[in-house]
Amino acid sequence: MNGLVYEHVHHNLKLLKLTTFESILDNYLELAAKEGQSTIEIIDYLIDQELQSKDARSQALRTRIAGFPVEKRLEDFKFDCQPSLDQAVIKEIASLRFIHNAENIVFLGPPGVGKTHLAIGLGIEAIKAGFRVQFANASSMIEKLEKADQENRLEEKLRNLSRFHLLIIDEMGYLPFEESGAHCFFQLISKRYEKTATIFTSNKSFGEWGDIFRDNVIASAILDRILHHCTTVNIRGDSYRLKERRRYGLAQPGSLESIQSEKQNAKVLSRSEEISLP
Ligand code: ADP
Ligand code: MG
Repeated sequence: MNGLVYEHVHHNLKLLKLTTFESILDNYLELAAKEGQSTIEIIDYLIDQELQSKDARSQALRTRIAGFPVEKRLEDFKFDCQPSLDQAVIKEIASLRFIHNAENIVFLGPPGVGKTHLAIGLGIEAIKAGFRVQFANASSMIEKLEKADQENRLEEKLRNLSRFHLLIIDEMGYLPFEESGAHCFFQLISKRYEKTATIFTSNKSFGEWGDIFRDNVIASAILDRILHHCTTVNIRGDSYRLKERRRYGLAQPGSLESIQSEKQNAKVLSRSEEISLP
């Protein structure tokens, strides 16, 4: 091969940032010559490799940006451990139609039943499908929104958040929001309404969301928008961790841990069908 042309090709591939194409070119041309591949087959292979590595890099970047606290995969979720959960419903959600349709998903249930696991698993599926995802803990997100509001940057912050096709707001209701926080949250929900999808997880029934916002009027306005296009998944049963501990004989029925879990569960059970606005 003409040395100048060789240099020129490598130089231009680098300029075009076709890094995989450039790095495998020499070896592949040698191999392809031995195999007698046609020029179009060689080009096809090299472009394909470039696309695959670009896709992997973009996926890795979007995963980093999403900020998942831990990696949880849908395929690792044991449905037989959670009989209250209809696998078909999760399968339908995992088709990600809700993201295309800018709808919401709410996972309700007591601690430890897998709400966050499912939310992260769905987030990872969404990233694989090419979506931009952001995971946020409800309290720390509200804190950031309030800070942005105090610094007159709320609009900018909301605009940034609306760039995500899927926002996961975890642990709604673990801590109540101040009035200013509830106001910021309402603006966030209004901005996303019918435009982008959101997954919420909460250990509080919808009837108790008024307590989270300390204001039934704003809670109604927020729930009204969230529930308009929404699939609610109620998960009942014992904490997975507790079940595991029991399996290894570490938590006996009747122990404090067991009783606490059952009490919590009963509370959610009694309210689980309730979706009336506060
Ligand atoms: P929640 O958000 O409902 O409080 P998590 O999703 O944090 O519960 O689950 C607690 C732990 O138990 C996590 O490590 C999670 O991966 C695991 N877990 C919960 N349910 C299941 C399940 N059905 N199959 C596998 N792991 C589960
Ligand atoms: Mg959780």
